[in-house]
Amino acid sequence: MKIIKIASQMQKIALKHIKDGDEIGLVPTMGALHEGHISLIAKSVKNDDITIVSIFVNPVQFCPNEDYLKYPRPAKKDKEICKKNHVDYVFMPSANDMFPSDHKTFIEIKTLQDILCGAFRINHFRGVATVVAKLFNISCADRAYFGVKDFQQLKIVEKMGKDLNFRTKIIPCSVVRERNGLALSSRNSYLSAEEKKRSLNISKSLKEAAEDFKSRDLNFVKKTVINKLKKIPGSEIDYAEIVNFDDLSPANKNTKKAVFAVAVWIGKTRLIDNIMMIKDKGRSGQ
Ligand code: AMP
Repeated sequence: MKIIKIASQMQKIALKHIKDGDEIGLVPTMGALHEGHISLIAKSVKNDDITIVSIFVNPVQFCPNEDYLKYPRPAKKDKEICKKNHVDYVFMPSANDMFPSDHKTFIEIKTLQDILCGAFRINHFRGVATVVAKLFNISCADRAYFGVKDFQQLKIVEKMGKDLNFRTKIIPCSVVRERNGLALSSRNSYLSAEEKKRSLNISKSLKEAAEDFKSRDLNFVKKTVINKLKKIPGSEIDYAEIVNFDDLSPANKNTKKAVFAVAVWIGKTRLIDNIMMIKDKGRSGQ
């Protein structure tokens, strides 16, 4: 396994692999790797000749009041995890290499970037789309692996890929959870034991919502989750929305395949989670 720290060097190596006929898989991450990331890596190792894991805490996707500086950066442990999981290259660029002070170009995904998390994290998805586009170009990836855990991010990257004719195929990967249902996240490390216990109610309420969605109307499903989330001590809801699976537009009574997406503060930690919900055949939800 090789550690590459410079974008131009990574791209040169990737181009050589393409010339040799290798297929490249990219797993973009911000590090503090856990089983969720490892599931993406495992898919790439299985599908692709070469697996590149990027580890980059991307400054342009953080708002000024967010946790950019305190975001966990256990570089040594991350490298060990990558090695153990048969990664070929870990790409760990500096912020200055990726976004030097004269960087001027940003990608916007109209509408999709302004809803759900985008309504609370101004310029977040513009930063995500821009770094992902750069990583696609640097890695020359045939496939890139994204977790459904960040559902809006996945949809935005898919839309960007389609609209801008990127050749990189986006591979969605299902959410890895603790046995108790909590979605794995690098930010879970901010939670105290008590907060972690409380946050289990997020995935639990979503799981129950997916059951309710089969037979109850949207209002009931949404209100039930909001009430449950409000009851978590120290919680504050940023949003709890039911949207269409395909394009994140607001769901209505005819929606058959939806996603219930939430962002909830537990103390000082902001957690996101979502669940896919499918209507029972023959029911309209009325
Ligand atoms: P991050 O390091 O949080 O930016 O995440 C890097 C990639 O890993 C993103 O595509 C995430 O959606 C994905 N990911 C994060 N947590 C999980 C999880 N619990 N299950 C599956 N994928 C995940």
